[in-house]
Amino acid sequence: MSFDYDLFVIGGGSGGVRAARVAAQEGAKVALAEEDRYGGTCVIRGCVPKKLMVFASEYAGMVEDAQAYGWTVHAGGFDWGAFKGKLHTELDRLEMVYRNLLKNSNVETFDQRAKLTDAHTVELDDGSRKTAKHILLAMGGRPVKPDMQGVELAITSNDIFHLDEMPKSILIVGGGYIACEFAGILNGLGVEVTQFYRGAQILRGFDDEARGLVCEEMCQRGVDVHLGTNVLEMREEDGGVWVKATNGTERVFDKVLFATGRAPNTESMGLSEIGVELGRNGQVIVDEYSQTAVPSIYAIGDVTDRMNLTPVAIREGMAFVETVFKGNPTPVDHDLIPTAIFTQPEMGTVGLSEEEARDREPIEVFATSFKPMQQSFAGRAERVLMKLVVSQSSRKVLGCHIVAPGAGEMIQLAGIAVKMGATKEDFDRTVAVHPTMSEEIVTMKTPVRTG
Ligand code: NDP
Repeated sequence: MSFDYDLFVIGGGSGGVRAARVAAQEGAKVALAEEDRYGGTCVIRGCVPKKLMVFASEYAGMVEDAQAYGWTVHAGGFDWGAFKGKLHTELDRLEMVYRNLLKNSNVETFDQRAKLTDAHTVELDDGSRKTAKHILLAMGGRPVKPDMQGVELAITSNDIFHLDEMPKSILIVGGGYIACEFAGILNGLGVEVTQFYRGAQILRGFDDEARGLVCEEMCQRGVDVHLGTNVLEMREEDGGVWVKATNGTERVFDKVLFATGRAPNTESMGLSEIGVELGRNGQVIVDEYSQTAVPSIYAIGDVTDRMNLTPVAIREGMAFVETVFKGNPTPVDHDLIPTAIFTQPEMGTVGLSEEEARDREPIEVFATSFKPMQQSFAGRAERVLMKLVVSQSSRKVLGCHIVAPGAGEMIQLAGIAVKMGATKEDFDRTVAVHPTMSEEIVTMKTPVRTG
C-alpha cells in the first residue's frame, strides 16, 4: 500500500518538531500539522517565557543587593508593557526558528488542526485527508481548572504572558511547579501574591526537606502561602474577583490564577474510535517504545503524561525515530531525570527523595543548610540546602536535592554523576571548588540521618 507520507506528525511543539526533523533527515517523507503556534507549550507559553519572567523578576532583589555591596543604584518601577513587547518579539523569533527548522529539513507543514480517521489517515480542518505509514501524536497538553462556580473568572498560565497590566494583587491556586514558579515571579515583579494549596506542603512528590525550605523561603520573600486551603466560591466584585476560602477568609483579588494541573490534548481527535487507548486523564497509553495500541501510531511528550518535561519529549521523539526509521528499537529511558523548579530560590533534583529511598532500602542522608556568602553579605537571611540520599549497601547516591540560587544549573552537572551511578565516596574524592555553594556537595562527611 502506498501512502502520501512516511510520517505524519500532529503537533509542532519541541517533541513533534524534533521527531519530524530527524526522521526527514533520515530520508523519510514527513508532514506536520499544528493548529496553533510552532514551538508548543515550552517555547510559546511555558518554559521560555516563564524563564524570561523569572529573570525579569529577580532584578529588584539584585538592585537591593548591589546597594549592600556599595553601589549607589535605585530600582525604578517595572514596566510590564516594555517587557511584554520584548518578550513577544522574542517568542515570534523563536517560532520562526522552529518553522525554519522544519522547512530546511523538507518537512511539509499544515497550519491546521488534524484528527485521525483510521490507523493511517489524518483529516485536516479544510477536509483534506493525508495518509501516512506512521503517525506520531505530539499534541501536548493544556492547563485545566476545576469545575466550580465562578472559575471562568480565573486565568491560567497561558494568560499570564498576555495581561494588559500587572495586577496589584493575585491569588494563585495550586502547589505544583507552575503555581510555585509564578508565585515567585509575580512576587518579584511587585505583585502582592497569595497562594492557596489544598495539601499539607507545596510541591508534592519532591523531597520533604527541600520543598519545606522552598516554602519557607517563598514566605520569607513575601508570598503569603496558605496550606490546607482551597477556594470555595468566587464572583466578580469591584473590578476584581471576590474569593471565599475554605479557611473562612474572604477577599477581593485583582486576579486569580489557577495552576491546578494540565490535561493531554486528546479531545475530539478520533483516537479511541480507531482503537488508540486513552487513560483516565485522557492521556495516550503507549509502551516503552512510545507505540500506541494501534501499531502504526506512536505518541510522545505531554500527550502521553509520562514525565511532562520538554527534554523528555525530545528524547522520546529521538527514540521514536531511532526505533521506526533507523531500525534500532530504542526504549525511552525515564530513569534518573534531573529537573529544576524555577521557584525563588530554585530547586534542582535528581533521583529519589529521602522518603522514596527510605521506603526501598536502608539509607544515609547527608544534608547541610546554610546562608550562602553572596546573600549573607548583603544582609539576607536566605538559606540554601545541599542534600544527598545514599544507599547503605551499594553506597550509590540515590538522590540529590539542591535548593539554592542557580540550583537548576548545579543539578544538571550533579545529574551526570548520579546517572553514572556515582557512590558517596566518588563525590568525596572530588575536590571542592572554593568558595562556592555547591562545594558542600563533596564535603559532607557525617550522615544527618540513617535508617
Ligand atoms: P501539577 O500537577 O504539578 O500541580 C497541580 C497543582 O494543583 C497541585 O498542587 C494539585 O494539588 C493542585 N490541584 C489540582 N486540582 C486541584 C483542585 N481541584 N483544587 C485545588 N488544587 C488543585 O501541575 P502544574 O500545572 O503545576 O504543572 C504541570 C506539569 O508541567 C508539571 O508536573 C511538570 O511536569 C511540568 N512543568 C515543568 C516545569 C519545569 O520543569 N520547571 C515548569 C512548569 C511545568 P495536589 O498536589 O493536592 O494534587
